[in-house]
Amino acid sequence: MQIACSYFGNRIPRHVGSDMERLRALGFDRVVHTFCENDLRYYRRTMGEIVRISEDCGLEVLLDPWGVAGVFGGEAFSQWLVEDEELAQRGPSRRRLAGACLNHPRLLPLLRQWTEAAAEAGARTLFWDEPHWSHRGPGNPEGEICVCEYCRARLPGLPDVPPEAIASMRAEAVARLLAALAAGALELGMRSSICVLPDGVAEQPALDWNEIARLPGVVEFGTDPYWQAFGISDPAARDRFIDAQASAALEACRSAGVACMLWLQAFRVTAEGEEDLFAGSRRLLAHGPDTAAVWGFEACAHMSAIACERPAVVWRRLLELLRPEGPGAHGASAGRPSCGP
Ligand SMILES: [Zn+2]
Repeated sequence: MQIACSYFGNRIPRHVGSDMERLRALGFDRVVHTFCENDLRYYRRTMGEIVRISEDCGLEVLLDPWGVAGVFGGEAFSQWLVEDEELAQRGPSRRRLAGACLNHPRLLPLLRQWTEAAAEAGARTLFWDEPHWSHRGPGNPEGEICVCEYCRARLPGLPDVPPEAIASMRAEAVARLLAALAAGALELGMRSSICVLPDGVAEQPALDWNEIARLPGVVEFGTDPYWQAFGISDPAARDRFIDAQASAALEACRSAGVACMLWLQAFRVTAEGEEDLFAGSRRLLAHGPDTAAVWGFEACAHMSAIACERPAVVWRRLLELLRPEGPGAHGASAGRPSCGP
């Protein structure tokens, strides 16, 4: 099993270098670097340096459109939503919702710009993380759904149509977007890894995981069953949730012939929630994903809004689960890699 970790919040190459060296020494094989709109605008060349440094450390790099256009997961703002006010989803109350409409024709060309920048930065694999529709939250207090002209063109009568029709129109939009993104990446010589939200959370439509895992250009598929983040506290419900999501993801991957990546939560874990986290994480790992990934680096100690209460404990104990035999067995510590700017 390979292990991966997400990394964000630092754009100073020499510091990134020492962290990447550390990840490699701990036995990590892969790193997901976030690449948000702010990076696209202000750190474009720096991102190339970060990719190169990480690869020099022996890590496989995936670039993640973190929070881009409010369509992907991530604690990052979208300037595109500010500059093009028609891009946002529009609720029945006429309120602009915090995310581009997945049916808006200008979304794909913007994401194409991101894809080209990722290629320029030297990415070989793109990580399309949690593509989603706006759901209840600060940017959408009433949990409204988009009824913009493009959504209504896809589903006349919106929102006064059966909920199943709405769900299927919205699911198709996610699948269509992912197909276009993976095809666009492939055209530029890059592979795609897709992570979808677990089935049944965040008011999202049910996606066809088999269809998505099979999209041309997709080499890896998975999900992030963060039961704590999704408010599941009962241990039996936790185990059912983990088993259902992990086995559905693995099945989709096996049938599509792609690798499976499953994520473990290492953010916003309270001290009280630690034992539950480790018990559930053990259960998830027992499903045998090809890659087990941790969100994020050092249990997010550096990012106050999502840091674990005791990040050092969470990080150490998750590593013991991920590399029970220690990092040396995987060759990571054999001969310190020479990397860094
Ligand atoms: Zn719309």
